[in-house]
Amino acid sequence: MYYRQTTLKSPIVVSGIGLHTGQTVTLKLLPAPVDRGLVFQRTDLDDFEIEASVSSVAKVSYATTIMKKGVLIYTVEHVLSALRGCGVSNAIVAIDNLETPILDGSARLFIEAIDRAGIIVQKKPQKFLKIKKELHVQDGWKSITISPADDFSLCYDIDFSHPLIGRQHFEWVVTPESYRREIGIARTFGFLDDVEMLRHNGLIRGGSLENAIVLTRDGMLNKATLQFQDEFVRHKVLDLIGDLALVGFPILGRINAQRAGHALHTALVSKILKEHSHWELVELEKPVSKTQPNADWQAEGLTAPAPSAV
Ligand SMILES: [Zn+2]
Repeated sequence: MYYRQTTLKSPIVVSGIGLHTGQTVTLKLLPAPVDRGLVFQRTDLDDFEIEASVSSVAKVSYATTIMKKGVLIYTVEHVLSALRGCGVSNAIVAIDNLETPILDGSARLFIEAIDRAGIIVQKKPQKFLKIKKELHVQDGWKSITISPADDFSLCYDIDFSHPLIGRQHFEWVVTPESYRREIGIARTFGFLDDVEMLRHNGLIRGGSLENAIVLTRDGMLNKATLQFQDEFVRHKVLDLIGDLALVGFPILGRINAQRAGHALHTALVSKILKEHSHWELVELEKPVSKTQPNADWQAEGLTAPAPSAV
């Protein structure tokens, strides 16, 4: 667990197409000063900014979409997951279209971009949202519970009646290293039977076998094999980490998620932020441990350059 804020050492560019819009988009990850948090910017709309906050969430079906004053950004969860998963506190995500690029359907290329840019430690301590009392959200048989803990850990269960998925259970103590190895590279998935309905609703226009695992009734269309037998539940964890970034702080708590998805992930974030007596903001007094994200120690104490330096 790291105890100081971090940002990127230099700007970096990632390009691709949006999963739902099918449009080409260039995404820049930019350094940001302390206490800025994770912020989206629409460079095609005079750098209009939308904070990665649950109050900006507009839609949660099939992806998490944020909106402010009628300006939308679709599918924010994978880039947020990469930033939070790698331990980046402050960054601007600048895009020139209305959806982030889907890339290979995981956060792998965002993680590689973050690692190419490098991470630096900033002067101010990181604030963590520490859960003091259990919170629970439920929708039928889907549920998430978050309980008090001194670090961030989770277990996630999914249950799909498909021969490649079935019941999958994943337990995890989160560190930037384990995120890169175990979670960030898990690809999104969808069912061939849903493709027509989704297209009819204007979704997945950019969807292909390059950016999703596409499941048929009894197998998958993709030629490549799964990276993990339980890649499906790992991708759910990737999404959860991205959606939880909308809290605005890294969390200290233990999550138990059962068959959840974007709607319940963001419902949990809303509930956490509403129930002030169930948590407190804390700073960790421990020195930076070896789980600090890839920090450049020589740069310790530096304040990140302003985004206008790009
Ligand atoms: Zn996803």
